[in-house]
Amino acid sequence: MKFYGLPTPVYVIDEDKLTENLEILAGVQARTGCKILLAQKAFSCYHFYPLISKYLSGYTSSGLFEARLASEEGSGENHVYCPAYLESEFSEIVKICDHIVFNSAEQVKKFAPLAGGRSLGLRINPEYSTQASEIYDPCAKYSRLGVTKQNFCGDVLSFLEGFHIHTLCEQGAEDLVSTVRAFEKSFGGYFKNLKWLNLGGGHHITKAGYNIPLLESEIKRLSDKYGVQIYLEPGEAVALNAGYLYTKVLEIVRNGMDIAILDSSAECHMPDVLEMPYRPPLKDSGNAGEKKYTYRLSSRTCLAGDVIGDYSFDEPLKCGDVLSFSDMAIYTMVKNNTFNGMPLPAIAKVKGGEYTLLKTFSYADFKSRL
Ligand SMILES: *Cc1c(COP(=O)(O)O)cnc(C)c1O
Repeated sequence: MKFYGLPTPVYVIDEDKLTENLEILAGVQARTGCKILLAQKAFSCYHFYPLISKYLSGYTSSGLFEARLASEEGSGENHVYCPAYLESEFSEIVKICDHIVFNSAEQVKKFAPLAGGRSLGLRINPEYSTQASEIYDPCAKYSRLGVTKQNFCGDVLSFLEGFHIHTLCEQGAEDLVSTVRAFEKSFGGYFKNLKWLNLGGGHHITKAGYNIPLLESEIKRLSDKYGVQIYLEPGEAVALNAGYLYTKVLEIVRNGMDIAILDSSAECHMPDVLEMPYRPPLKDSGNAGEKKYTYRLSSRTCLAGDVIGDYSFDEPLKCGDVLSFSDMAIYTMVKNNTFNGMPLPAIAKVKGGEYTLLKTFSYADFKSRL
């Protein structure tokens, strides 16, 4: 199928770019002996799990449903971390997960006796912030994520084989190194008794300019010094720049500027645009005023703020034009919703210029959730 055979809106996963990212990550694993897991919360498009399983060591989950998806569709290791488990789900988690990470000593004591020989870990809060955005900072004041030094009590150590930290978001190896040093300073005394350390996600490893040699030397230093298996669990880096959202111009209205109404929505189909917030890259466009024709790109929901941003073009937009937003594989399909009864975008893939439609959605998907 060529692109014009696809419906809009549609997320198109670029399998060639995904493979390129996976090759970079597999290189890090091969050179350091670390194991890299896909954090499914960023990208759970399980059509690609057989491909991902060829390169990575496994999957990590935020709870039972993601863990089940990995066990049904992926292969390799299956890790899970959740701030609080449900008693009703824990026996199933134990069946399908090999590594279970707890968020507090209370959770360890409650669930370790039910964990049937699984490798157990505890999330630590190293209390070392390297980013300014509070909603993405697990080390921010009053954070619930992980145990601080002051609240750590050695009586749970006998249950544990690993520590887990996750403090980064779209960051470089330099921030990882300084975080690890802070972690080591407060908890390093325990590392020699552990089997593994999981350094979480937020590593922008597949982004151009990421300092891979620095990441690798830090991994090797840690595993050599303490004799531990190092895990990384990036989400974003696995599918970075490996997807597009194609959307059609439905109408153009005017109110002080030209405003294009699209068949997709920031609120429903790319919620991080409003939540994070950020400006998604758009093919063949410039900033407002940079090219001859500037438009505000918005959606057909009733939310006034459902605006993707102001972009400029060499030619005027017209109804029926298809726009291509990039970097739309991550934190999109996993977060989308049907607010306003908006249809969900279809999912397709492109490989070697050939497009394949993977999935379409309908009224039933809207109704079944309500
Ligand atoms: C979000 C998250 C990840 C993945 O983060 P990315 O920024 O997508 O790499 C990994 N581990 C945990 C515990 C997370 O919360």
